[in-house]
Amino acid sequence: MIPIAKPQLDDGEIQAVTDVLRSGIIAEGQRVAEFEEAFAEYTGTQYAVAVNSGTAALHAALLAHGIGKDDEVITSSFSFIATANSILFTGAKPVFTDIRADTFNLDENLIEEKITPATKAIMPVHLYGHPAEMDAIKDIAEDHGLIIIEDACQAHGATYRGKKVGSFGTGAFSFYPTKNMTTSEGGIITTNNEEVAAKARMIRAHGSKQRYLHEMLGYNLRMTDISAAIGLTQLKKLPDYTSGRQHNAKLLNEKLSDIEGILCPTVKENCTHSFHQYTIRTHDRDELSDYLRTKGIGSGIYYPIPTHRQPFYKEMGYNDSLLVTEKASREVLSLPVHPGVTDEDIDTIANSIIDWGGLKC
Ligand SMILES: *Cc1c(COP(=O)(O)O)cnc(C)c1O
Repeated sequence: MIPIAKPQLDDGEIQAVTDVLRSGIIAEGQRVAEFEEAFAEYTGTQYAVAVNSGTAALHAALLAHGIGKDDEVITSSFSFIATANSILFTGAKPVFTDIRADTFNLDENLIEEKITPATKAIMPVHLYGHPAEMDAIKDIAEDHGLIIIEDACQAHGATYRGKKVGSFGTGAFSFYPTKNMTTSEGGIITTNNEEVAAKARMIRAHGSKQRYLHEMLGYNLRMTDISAAIGLTQLKKLPDYTSGRQHNAKLLNEKLSDIEGILCPTVKENCTHSFHQYTIRTHDRDELSDYLRTKGIGSGIYYPIPTHRQPFYKEMGYNDSLLVTEKASREVLSLPVHPGVTDEDIDTIANSIIDWGGLKC
C-alpha cells in the first residue's frame, strides 16, 4: 500500500524523546523554548508560541488579537473544519468567501464585498501548501484596518515572494502526524507582534504570566517537552522533506499533465508550494479513488463537504452559495506526495491513473 500520508520518524526522534523521558521533565520546559526559537527563526518571525494543536494555535491567535463576540472574520469554507471553528470558539462569526479555481485559496477579488463594520480579520488558508494571494490580502487588510491571521497549518516552509508563510500576519501551524512535519499532536503561533506573542503565552496557560495570578480567561494549550523534542528533530529535516515533496510533485506533473480529464496542481509565479497535498481535479474523482485503492494506492479528498455545508453550520443558518468551493469539493483528489513516496511509487501511481483512463475510453 502506498499511503496518502506517513510521518517520517527514525532513531533521531526516538533518541530525542528518550532523552526527555530520562530527564524527568516532561511537561512544558526547555525543549519547548528551544523549539519556539528554532521555528521562529525558520519562519522568519520574531516570536513563536508553541501550543498543543493547530486548532489551539488558530484559537489562541484570534484571542490574542482581541477577536470575540460580535466580530466577523472572513475566511475560506474550503478548508478543514478547524479553520472556521476556531473563529466560532471566540464568539466571533466566520464569513465565507469563495475561492480561486486554480489555487483553491481565497479569491482576493471577492473579499472586499464581505467586509462590514463588524469585520475584524481576514483568515486566509494556504491550502495544500500553496500560499494565498498575500499582496492583495495585505492591501485589503491595510485599507480596512483588518488583522491577518494565516492558517498555515498545511504550509510549513511555503514562500510568497521569497518570504515564508506565517510571517505576513500572525500565523498558525499544525504538527499533526499527517502534516509536513510533526510533534505527534501540536501547533505553533508565529508573529512579529510582541504584545500578541505575550498574550498568546498567557492564553496558553490559563491567563497567567506569573504562576497562580490569572489576569484573563485562558486555557491549557501547552505543548509538552516530549512533543517539542520530536519537533526540534523534525524541523532540522523539514527542508529535505519539502524538497522530497516538491520532487515527487514534479514527477507527478510530468507523468499526469497530458492525461485528458485530469487537471494537475498549479504553482503561481512568486510562490513556492510546500505540497502538503498534491491535488488533482477530475470529474470521476470517486471512481478514480476506488480504482487506485484496488491497486494499493491511497488517496484523499480534502474536503468532500465544505464548511458552510456542514450540518451544524447549516443549523446556524449558513446558506451561502459558493460555486467554486462546491465544485472543488466534488472534483478534488489528493495523491501520495509525502517524502516517503519513492520514484518507483510515482511510476506505480501514474501508470495506474493512465490505465484507469484507458479503461474508460
Ligand atoms: C490540520 C489543520 C488544522 C488543525 O490542526 P490540528 O493540529 O489538527 O488541530 C487547521 N487548519 C488546517 C487547514 C489544517 O489542515
